Amino acid sequence: MADNHTPEERSYNMSRIRSIDTKPEEKVRKYLFAQGFRYRKNVKKLPGCPDIVLPKYKTIIFVQGCFWHMHNCGRFHWPTSNQEYWEPKILRNAERDQQNKEKLQDLGWTVMTVWECELKKKYFEKTMNSIVDKLKHS
Ligand SMILES: [Zn+2]
Repeated sequence: MADNHTPEERSYNMSRIRSIDTKPEEKVRKYLFAQGFRYRKNVKKLPGCPDIVLPKYKTIIFVQGCFWHMHNCGRFHWPTSNQEYWEPKILRNAERDQQNKEKLQDLGWTVMTVWECELKKKYFEKTMNSIVDKLKHS
């Protein structure tokens, strides 16, 4: 997979993405841990450096911010300034997400995506219940 980013760009991206995503990721991890699931975090050896890896269940969970990963929900909107800069960047993110997902599936992993908007207070319990349910039946 081609990565056209300069190191500066990449570290800028990562720091922005990480700082925004840290909280939702932690919420998911905490919940899973409390339910007795054990996982590895940010596994660099796997495509996309997945946030949460559950080897026992051969399952990977990506926790994704709706803006950075172009979720088809009310939270995502194209930036109104600097479009020529952001558009390709965001499209590339989405494309990379898809490629990583396919690579992981080829390696035999089940891939789940949890969106930031699904972790809002009123949806959190429902979202996590369905994840736990899927894990238990995997
Ligand atoms: Zn969303």
